[in-house]
Amino acid sequence: MRLRGDDSQTRETHRPVERDAGLNPFDIVQRQCDMCASFIDLDPNVLEIIRVPMQEVHVSIPVRMDDGSIKVFKGFRVIHNNALGPAKGGVRFHPDETIDTVRALAAWMTWKCSLAGLPLGGGKGGIVCNPKEMSQGELERLSRGYISKIAPFIGPDKDIPAPDVYTNPQIMAWMMDEYSKIMAKNQPGVITGKPLLLGGSAGRGDATARGGLYVLREAARACGINLRGAAIAVQGYGNAGYYTAYLAHKLFGSKIVAISDSKGAILNKEGLDPQQVYEYKIKTGSVANFPGSEAISHDELLELEVDVLCLCALENVVTQHNASNINAAVLAEFSNGPTTPEADEILYEKGIHVLPDFLCNAGGVTVSYFEMVQNFNLFFWDEEEVHSRLDKKMTSAYYTVLETSRKNKVNMRMAAYIVSVKRVAEAIKLRGWA
Ligand code: GLU
Repeated sequence: MRLRGDDSQTRETHRPVERDAGLNPFDIVQRQCDMCASFIDLDPNVLEIIRVPMQEVHVSIPVRMDDGSIKVFKGFRVIHNNALGPAKGGVRFHPDETIDTVRALAAWMTWKCSLAGLPLGGGKGGIVCNPKEMSQGELERLSRGYISKIAPFIGPDKDIPAPDVYTNPQIMAWMMDEYSKIMAKNQPGVITGKPLLLGGSAGRGDATARGGLYVLREAARACGINLRGAAIAVQGYGNAGYYTAYLAHKLFGSKIVAISDSKGAILNKEGLDPQQVYEYKIKTGSVANFPGSEAISHDELLELEVDVLCLCALENVVTQHNASNINAAVLAEFSNGPTTPEADEILYEKGIHVLPDFLCNAGGVTVSYFEMVQNFNLFFWDEEEVHSRLDKKMTSAYYTVLETSRKNKVNMRMAAYIVSVKRVAEAIKLRGWA
């Protein structure tokens, strides 16, 4: 169901480091939050509020399958915090989805929107399903069923879903249409990541990758790395991974030396052609065995000596078990939650410049916000305008985090937390919640 040009946030979904699959992302978010709170001496009443989601909706969605049977799917929509504005965040379709993953991802959305300077809070949704085994008709009925169940809890000024792992513009179109039917009026502003014809924004398709590359461009400047010819390894080859490789090659002239997906990893020290690898993956179902490449293991890809390692898959990839083997100068997190707190410490000690997830991958939600603005105004921008506004926001977020990190002598993730949590805490205070 994933086609080239899908402007979804789809990320390759594999967990190469199986031994850490048990790490609970919500537990990690809470630990990160606690560490930040003690560092900035946060009001304990504010901490009490931000440690937990404000709202959770759990639904059962009965879907008529193609064989005539009814299957009930479990779905979630979580609002972590809406002090800065309506909640914003994607919906994932994944067989391993859990409420704790959704809670964690919702919290990261709060910090992401805050860091990017958007007037939005954090939310996330998920449905436990395997879209790879479902027909288009089944997916449509599931998407519509989900929206009909959560309709009272979403809306352009309440909570605005978007694409994430294994959801795409077509799914957003069905969801927006279903909500519009329920409300008996056209409601494009309820969902972002829509197809262009239905009120989507130019530049949303590659926004996550492009936004992260603007951050990487500045990071390279700060670290004295010349991105032209720089060796880059890309873990995960869904929407984020593909566009990251493609654009790094095209915009910077970087050399993509290694690429992986759930089925394998490939290496060519002379550089791989990202477009050809993508077409090969579409044809064969994987990047594995790409002609002219050498097969390596997932762990080997993570441990390559490269200028930049781009993580574009799922959570808990760099852990205490492999962090000391990371050999990249810059670690760019295009996925959510790929690095554990223990790994963070090791990476910091090794002097690896980490571009933390909710900084590095904020481009997707930033262009989603632009999409909302365009929907409210019924006036649409061209791609250049989207790119230049995105560039401004990402560049400014990077330098804010860098300065905070240098000033406080903390790693980049802690610095990002400091900036984000302070803003949300101030909004909470202004609203009189604590
Ligand atoms: N799912 C994306 C993320 O994790 C984008 C969310 C959005 O556009 O609302 O940032």
